[in-house]
Amino acid sequence: MNILVINAGSSSLKYQLVDVVTGKVIAKGLCEQVGSEESTHKHGIDDNEVVHHQPLPDHVAAMNLVLETLTEGDDAVTDFDGIAAVGHRIVHGGEYFDRSVMIDEEVVAKIEKLKELAPLHNGPAVDGIRACQKLMPATPMVAVFDTAFFQTMPPKAYMYPLPYEFYEKYGIRKYGFHGTSHRYLAQRTAAILEEDMRDLRIITCHLGNGASITAIDHGVPIDTTMGFTPLDGLMMGTRCGSIDPAIVPFLMEHEGMGPEEINQLMNKQSGLLGVSGVCNDLRAVRDASEKGNERAILAYEMYADRVKKVIGQFIMLMAGVDAIVLSAGVGENCQKMRRLIFAGMQPMGIILDQEKNKQRGFERIISHERSRVPIIVIPTDEEYMIAKDTYELVHAASQIVLVPHEEPEEE
Ligand code: AMP
Repeated sequence: MNILVINAGSSSLKYQLVDVVTGKVIAKGLCEQVGSEESTHKHGIDDNEVVHHQPLPDHVAAMNLVLETLTEGDDAVTDFDGIAAVGHRIVHGGEYFDRSVMIDEEVVAKIEKLKELAPLHNGPAVDGIRACQKLMPATPMVAVFDTAFFQTMPPKAYMYPLPYEFYEKYGIRKYGFHGTSHRYLAQRTAAILEEDMRDLRIITCHLGNGASITAIDHGVPIDTTMGFTPLDGLMMGTRCGSIDPAIVPFLMEHEGMGPEEINQLMNKQSGLLGVSGVCNDLRAVRDASEKGNERAILAYEMYADRVKKVIGQFIMLMAGVDAIVLSAGVGENCQKMRRLIFAGMQPMGIILDQEKNKQRGFERIISHERSRVPIIVIPTDEEYMIAKDTYELVHAASQIVLVPHEEPEEE
């Protein structure tokens, strides 16, 4: 049963064809610089990836190309009938959606309405949906939202201490992002520990180029670090995360910046890149820090401390923790960062096993046998989760047991 997963970004379109029962990725690829003459199309798995340059004026053209690649020619992996359903990743579901839904006109209208909150993502997502509807009108489609998982957060977690009228007028509140990843990690954690998620307090750390941490209390997320936008919370590759909000008007005034420029500064020029001056890639920052680059050392230590502080806050919020999970590029691969994050937590019964931390592998427990709290590395898989939701909604009575797959990259 093959599900096509579509992830449309502002100028990109990622896709995966997934056999949802086995978890096997049948084909995948990425169209980049959509909307320009310089567009590229990468298609293939790992070493078999092929890159073509070809202008893709919009997401409809990109979608056309994707379906053509999957269904026509010598390398076709399926035909249209072989694609049972399409799952679309949608960044913002606002307060409308607390779960994945079958796509109909009302759903599309709501996603469009939310464009104001996620202009770079919800617009292209609608284009992707429209293109699919045109090319495969009989195929069922499902929308899976990054924000949906967090809709059960209590108001005391999602409200900002601003005048209440701005929540009512503009919907200014915490929405949370990376929800599909955090949900996957919580479900896999319960499976690994052979427990029911409803009996566990889990802290899931999605530490990639974008990064967020979520407190999942007995199966329900009660707080997360990303907020009204994905800029909030942790220090990230190029994003500053939480800073004193008064810095914003100060810089606008002293540097003569407008809203666009300050947004750009906080989203693209800050974080690891901004502090280290080296790169947004943690590997490069780590290498520079090991050569004695002081700003790289500072950036590295700031990153770790921010993760540590949130873990502490969330333990307090849940009055304890039963598992701490690390995932995404940094969490899955960077043993040095993991060491810094967990340094000094022994008195709280959270003990990293230095040897296990060095080992490579797939899903693995890296805490010491004396640790009261398991520390678990789980490679995240948002695409698979989208495929699973899609399948389960299309075949209403079916439930799929999550299977782990995909080996992590070498350090
Ligand atoms: P992601 O957004 O999940 O692809 O994660 C990207 C981040 O993971 C970048 O900051 C990378 O530097 C980091 N990363 C990926 N592989 C490694 C590795 N082997 N060691 C350290 N950091 C890594």
